[in-house]
Amino acid sequence: MLVEAARESRAEPAVKTPESEWDHVVKRLREEVGDVAYRSWLAPITVHRIEGGEAVIAAPARLYRDWVATNYADRILELWRTENRQITRVSVVVAPVRASQPAVADRPAEPGPQIRLAPVEAAAIGETGEDRPRPSGLDPRFTFENFVVGKPNELAHAAARHVAEACSNPLRKVPFNPLFLYGGDGLGKTHLMHAIAWHVFKNACDRKVIYLSAEKFMHRFVRALRFKSTIDFKEEFRSVDLLMIDDVQFISGKESTQEELFHTFNALVDQNRQIVISADKSPCDLEGLEERMRSRLGWGLVADLHPTTYELRLGILQSKAEQANVHIPRKVMELLAHRITSNVRELEGALTRIIANMQLVGREITLESAQEELHDLLRLRERRVTIDEIQRRVAEHYNIRLAEMTSARRARAFARPRQGAMYLAKQLTSRSLPEIGRKFGGRDHTTVMHAVRRIQELKDTDPALAEDVELLRRMLEG
Ligand code: ADP
Ligand code: MG
Repeated sequence: MLVEAARESRAEPAVKTPESEWDHVVKRLREEVGDVAYRSWLAPITVHRIEGGEAVIAAPARLYRDWVATNYADRILELWRTENRQITRVSVVVAPVRASQPAVADRPAEPGPQIRLAPVEAAAIGETGEDRPRPSGLDPRFTFENFVVGKPNELAHAAARHVAEACSNPLRKVPFNPLFLYGGDGLGKTHLMHAIAWHVFKNACDRKVIYLSAEKFMHRFVRALRFKSTIDFKEEFRSVDLLMIDDVQFISGKESTQEELFHTFNALVDQNRQIVISADKSPCDLEGLEERMRSRLGWGLVADLHPTTYELRLGILQSKAEQANVHIPRKVMELLAHRITSNVRELEGALTRIIANMQLVGREITLESAQEELHDLLRLRERRVTIDEIQRRVAEHYNIRLAEMTSARRARAFARPRQGAMYLAKQLTSRSLPEIGRKFGGRDHTTVMHAVRRIQELKDTDPALAEDVELLRRMLEG
């Protein structure tokens, strides 16, 4: 065997070093992500070592580590595997680089936390018991402590906590089986699942927990079929205390994987073991699922994560800025919370960019610098709200006819909503006062100006009106 291995390596055309492999990986990544992203994020990364199938790269600061981990993880692993099939995992560590220092393989890394990227195996924790190995495949930032709770996610959060606590206490029965978390992209499903795993790991490390994506579950299953090791596979998954499968929508239409998962679920439920599932839709809206699977998924507690509200986004930004130990002016946070509404991942990305810019260029964060830094992102997000849409929404909200937006009736029940609509038109569109006036039944621009001022004043003294206006603004911007 040894001889063969040696022969094989002699046949290699050129001697590969960790540095040369990383050079190739990063060169190809640069072509994909472009020069700006390369210079900002990848140029400062060096290779640290390759050991036992794991490639460790080093970032000069936590910020880079987090960014690279979040944004380039999977791709780096893929590219690396085309260079070197032995690599099954990539990790990023923080290791400050001195400008003159070449990337040598044995430079000691800062002992701080490692983030494992795209582990090939599932995150299985608590299996060995001794020495409490750190679970791999779990993001160390995804804990309950770092999860900001607000109206849109309070049910999912409470349910996740409940499960985590029950699983950490052998005397407690599983509360609901399965716990099914669903919601749009980037709203915190994976975060909550990792948080459950961390909680159980910290409080009851003898528990066997498996967390993995449905995609990985399928790959493992297919591999087990190929290598005729399905018995081991079944054994492994049916002997856990807590099984968490992320993004279960992936197995829609994949019948044999569904069947296997279905039997796994039943086996676990029979033994009173907890299951947590996430998906992008509710069980009844998931397509391509067998009926019995769908009904099994909906048996326990189904908790959804709603789109974030402005308040939640602001709370998340504050918490992230605190974690990064950076002061961000309130105006900048408000700008981000107002404008980046799609999901938390993008919100975090924007914040990271602003902080990075400040740290790289040594520039103070101001509203202007943030707008400049994020102009592409903000422009993209800028939804074109039209005056027609504003009028329609406002009329619906106050339950009046759309025609009242342009009518001459001056009763307050019509005049106030009309003024509110004018105010929103001024705030949300780039139309001039005369243009707005024309759209509201040919009114004069001074009428529009008066309406805008009036609403501004009333917002300070009339909380109900302030709330209406805020709600409408959010609906229109969303
Ligand atoms: P999903 O799995 O639903 O697509 P993730 O759990 O991966 O979303 O969340 C995306 C990012 O947003 C993660 O970095 C996560 O930490 C962050 N995030 C989402 N919701 C919250 C929250 N309520 N508090 C703090 N961070 C959050
Ligand atoms: Mg996820």
